[in-house]
Amino acid sequence: MIPISEAIKIVLQQTPKLAEVELISLSDSRGRILAEDIIADTDLPPFDRAQMDGYAVRAADVLNTPAQLRIVGESAAGAGWHHEMKAGEAVRIMTGAPVPAGADAVQQVELTREIESGSIVEILNSVEEGRSIVRQADEIKSGETVLRTGEEISAAMIATLASFGYAQVKVGRRPRVAVMATGSELVDVDQKPARDQIRESNNYTIAAYASLSGAVVERLPLCGDDPEALKRQMRAASEHCDMLITSGGVSMGVYDFTKAALKELGAEIFFERVSLRPGKPTVFARLGNALVFGLPGNPVSVTVTFNLFARTALRAMQGATQTKLMKEQAILARDVKGSADRESYLPAVLRTDEKGTLLANPLKWGGSSDFIAFAKATALINLPAGTKVINQGTPLTIVLLP
Ligand code: AMP
Ligand code: MG
Repeated sequence: MIPISEAIKIVLQQTPKLAEVELISLSDSRGRILAEDIIADTDLPPFDRAQMDGYAVRAADVLNTPAQLRIVGESAAGAGWHHEMKAGEAVRIMTGAPVPAGADAVQQVELTREIESGSIVEILNSVEEGRSIVRQADEIKSGETVLRTGEEISAAMIATLASFGYAQVKVGRRPRVAVMATGSELVDVDQKPARDQIRESNNYTIAAYASLSGAVVERLPLCGDDPEALKRQMRAASEHCDMLITSGGVSMGVYDFTKAALKELGAEIFFERVSLRPGKPTVFARLGNALVFGLPGNPVSVTVTFNLFARTALRAMQGATQTKLMKEQAILARDVKGSADRESYLPAVLRTDEKGTLLANPLKWGGSSDFIAFAKATALINLPAGTKVINQGTPLTIVLLP
């Protein structure tokens, strides 16, 4: 049994970054991993920009108010007034419009009044130099790097990519993942389970999390607990995918054949027991060119082990800088029991109290098969090995579920 940190290290050591880079449309880029640095191709703002609707003035002209200025023009967003504004003059200006040369402040329209049928403006309050003007290149200078290779493109980044002309963007190729549920008790979701059968859910869970990790997913046919069928399907999948993820059949039961099948196929096994609750029998191997994760069958174990190990590998394949789940500190909201010999990752719901403290509320759960309780989980509470009861109020580490 190896520690989780060691297992993750092995995953990262054995996972190759995929060589191919794709040029994709900006509209399809959310969630993908940047394979190029993003460089500003213009200053931002590209000109001195008005931040308010009002009048461009010279601050010195409006020291004593009310001050009357002659309106000499109008600068609108997309249609600036490109002349020199002189002393005693004002230009009517809109938010986002260029500030004319000669002006050094914008007074907001609420503090002004037009008179003489719009030829004169009365500035009611003085303004200091620079007020309501964002100077050219204040936000970004042309040529600066704004996003870096390895960052995941979030919805919040789209404006940046668009503004610097990235109609197409280079990203890491999507890994091809095949998922295969094993177990003679399983039927597909559109079937009514007969006696001794259950509907399979792991393929769908893994597919959902894998696609959140940027992968394209192929669901393989269900596989019974039959060593020959397992070997056949695993070999076939390993020939056309970057990663095979199986669930079930890795424990100590008489019909748990996944590990034996991998070994008989000549797979290189990197680890097969991790000090993790839930998820101890997780196996990590390579079969041909494909990485293989053999996850336990219990639905909660599947989510925990996928997100700790397989997600890390999928993100590394795409060249992500941040491969692991995001860590935070939270205060335990309810007593919880650890494990004597293994580290735990227990499902929890996060909330904040009235002081703004982040609280982790462990879900009441009936073990690693309790996917109904798990449906509410937004995080996993990490308890070190060898912990008995941990009391409410204790600070601890959590990881956020995607
Ligand atoms: P195993 O790891 O094969 O011993 O399976 C552990 C438990 O998880 C058993 O109760 C299985 O019936 C259940 N299980 C295994 N695979 C799946 C699956 N694909 N969907 C839902 N439950 C599963
Ligand atoms: Mg099984």
